[in-house]
Order: sequence, then structure tokens, then C-alpha cells
Amino acid sequence: PELFQPLRANAIGFDLAHSPTLARIDAARDPFRDHRWEAAPLLAGEAAPQDPVAVANPADPSASPGTISNASSADVATALDQARPWQAPLSERRKVLLQAADLLEARFGEIFALLAREAGKGLPDCVAELREGVDFLRYYAAQATDMPPAGIFTCISPWNFPMAIFTGQIAAALAAGNAVLAKPAEQTPLVAHLVSRVLHEAGVPQSALQLLPGGGEIGAALTADARINGVAFTGSTATALKIRAAMAEHCAPGTPLIAETGGLNAMIVDSTALPEQAVQAIVESAFQSAGQRCSALRCLYVQEDIAEDFTRMLTGAMQALRLGNPWLLSTDVGPVIDETARRGITDHIAKARTENRVVAELTAPDTGTYVAPTIIRIGGIGELEREIFGPVLHLVTFRAQELDRVIDAINATGYGLTFGLQTRIDDRVQHVCERIEAGNIYVNRNQIGAIVGSQPFGGEGLSGTGPKAGGPNYLLRFSAPHQGKAET
Ligand code: GLU
Repeated sequence: PELFQPLRANAIGFDLAHSPTLARIDAARDPFRDHRWEAAPLLAGEAAPQDPVAVANPADPSASPGTISNASSADVATALDQARPWQAPLSERRKVLLQAADLLEARFGEIFALLAREAGKGLPDCVAELREGVDFLRYYAAQATDMPPAGIFTCISPWNFPMAIFTGQIAAALAAGNAVLAKPAEQTPLVAHLVSRVLHEAGVPQSALQLLPGGGEIGAALTADARINGVAFTGSTATALKIRAAMAEHCAPGTPLIAETGGLNAMIVDSTALPEQAVQAIVESAFQSAGQRCSALRCLYVQEDIAEDFTRMLTGAMQALRLGNPWLLSTDVGPVIDETARRGITDHIAKARTENRVVAELTAPDTGTYVAPTIIRIGGIGELEREIFGPVLHLVTFRAQELDRVIDAINATGYGLTFGLQTRIDDRVQHVCERIEAGNIYVNRNQIGAIVGSQPFGGEGLSGTGPKAGGPNYLLRFSAPHQGKAET
């Protein structure tokens, strides 16, 4: 891998400030404006026929992107029966994964259209998803060694990165030579189907990659079976704990669970921070992707001395955000994923409103599942009982002498995914970063958008098991280094 690694580079992506590039994207997306995708399980054996159901478009209930036939329990049995680790030599596996990355890049127009219509993703997020997905393919291809695979890996991915995380988990499991049973989020099966088809087209055998779209019952069946040799999961902490319990009961001891879960991510802004930079970083961290990132900023601590002016600047910047159709580049904030999500977030905001704690809020369009960006004042991060997975920022002020107590309170949540710090005092950077317990720490910038290879992503405590995705240790968990060899 050391020799191979320097040959790899992350994708260039698309420069959305360059008008010929935008015209090229528009031309490539346009044929898919009203397209209807149809997806079904992809099995190495016969799938049991199921009635197709419409997939929702979070931005526009009248414009479904297509239909999905979900997997049945008979399909799970077939997939487990037919799964075979990918036995091609390492050089062939690498070639196929790199080919898949190229094919996905070539289909950018269709992928951007589908991400907008199935997941409500704005164009900058679509570009980032495609980049990250292909970066994962190329990175793990470069990292792969000929260590033996674990065997059969279940990959369960979330709707908030329906392409990048879906592709990343599978790319890692395949690069290590495993058979993959992939269960995408129920809300976003179409893009998962597209990516899986491309992987097959590139040369991944059907028996090494099977797709089982469906809800929690399919995920449960794919994690509670003695034939499973590992599970990669990204989603809520509560679901990760259920998976761990099911695996403890059904799988061999030591079967790895690689989980990336929730967070209650904080940022500290002290009185020396550069306000313009901090405000921009906060708006991106809290509201980009409608706040639907595990990495997103949930709780902002601002030093009391600057709090009044700073809050005024921040609310002004938030008020300039435009909510609307994710297809348009003029949109800053798209919808949240579905009605259940919308209700959960708006209930939280409504409660804050009755308690007079709303500092500023925008107005949401009335069709589609939108939530308006909102800032809520609270007394401390400990008051947050759960992760609010949407465009809601909680604001706390602190006095200079309370800094260590703030750090303790952030650590005491038990989560540890991302953390942000805005300060111009070097000693403070050192002091805070040494004490804060978080997987990804960002100083004087936003705290979202980790980059494959250079910023491995993952948390500690309630936020995940590690190893970090897009980092040098990830593939080891997908391998069985001691298989067949007696340890001496
Ligand atoms: N890797 C993403 C980021 O850095 C977050 C992944 C997630 O939301 O699961 O923003």
C-alpha cells in the first residue's frame, strides 16, 4: 500500500463558481428532471417478487423519483445462501474498484439529479457526495492488501449520505475481499441501487455484492445471523446498540461491528475569534445539508464579552439563507428527509418557542418537508436530551473563567464526534484540544466535510467504534489477519 498510495489523488469535483461547468452540469442533469428510476433487490439468486412502492421526494410530494421493490425475508435467506467472498486477486479487485469510480464520475448528471430528488440534496452537497464516494473507492483500492477477508459483511448505511457512505462501506468491504450484503436506508434506495449496478458493471461479482433494500426488519435479519462475519453501520447510537445486542446473541464472539453513530457536537468561540470567519464557519456547520450531518454543529458556546454583537452577526447571516428547491444553485437550505424527521425537529422548536428561547428563525416553504433554520438559547449542552438532526443551532454564553467547565460539560455528554474551536490564542488551541474528547477537531474553520485520506472521520464514546472511515486503519477491521494461521 505504501508504494501504491502516492499514485492516488482525491477527485477534483466541480467548480460551481465557473459558469461553463454549471452549464455542463445542467445539461447532464436535465434529462433526469422527470425521470423515474425503478429499483429492486440485487441478488445472486432469484428475488421473490414484491409490489413496488413510490419513493418520496422530500422537496416535492408530487414528484416521486421512482419506485422500490423492497427485499423480503426470503430474499435475505437467498442472499446469505449465495454470498461468496470476492476471490479475485488483489490487482483485479483494485482495477474493478477504480473502474467503478470512473463509471460513477461519468454518470454525474444522473447522480446529481437523483440525489436532489430522492434525498433533497443541494448541488454543492451532490458534488461533495460524488467526490467522497469515488474517493473512498480509490482510497480503499489503494489501501487494500492481500490479507484474507473476514467473510460476509453486512453494510447498513444512512440516508444523509446516501451515496458517499453507502459507497464507502461497500468499497472497504470489497477492497478487503469480502462478500457484501448492503442494506441502504429505507428513504434512499434508488441511489444505492444505481451505485450497486455500477459496481457490478465494473466487474464485482453478483455473489460478492448483493443489495437488500428495506426497513429495519431487513437490517435486523442481516445482523442476527451466525453466517455474518462483520457489520459496518452508520446511523443512530440507539440502532448501533441494538445491532451490538443482536450480534452478541447470534454471531461468533469477536465479530467486528464498525459503527459511526450520533453526536452532540459543540463549538467554542472565544473573545479573540475572528468574527467574520467564525460566523461563516458556524452557518456552514449548523445549516449546510439542512443540518443533517452527524458532524453538524449543535451547540455553540460564545464568550459572554462578545456574545451580543456576535449573536447579531450570526442571526443576520442566518437570515440571509435561502430555503427552497435543492435543484437550484440559489438554494442554501433544502428539505429534511421526511415527515417524521420534520415533526421531530419542529416539535423541539415549538417547545423552545413556548419557553421563549428562540433567538431567531426563518420561515419554511409549506410544501415538502422543510424546517426553517433556527437558533435556540439554552443554558448548557447538558440540557440537550437528544441529537436534533436538522437545521437547529443551540446557543450558550460562557464567561472566560468557565472555559474548563464548558469543556467538561461537552465531554460529559458521552458523545465525541466533531468539535470546533475559534480563537486566536495558540495556547488555548493546545489547552482545549488536549482536553476535548472528540474524533474530529477543527480549529478556525467549519466542522463538517471531512476529506478522505487527509481527514479520516469518526468519533469516540457514544459516537462510534472506530476505526475512522477514510483513514489508514479502516480496512484492517474488514480483514481476518489471523485466519487459518496458528498464532505462536
Ligand atoms: N463525513 C461527514 C462530514 O464530515 C459526516 C458523515 C455523517 O454525517 O455521517 O461532514
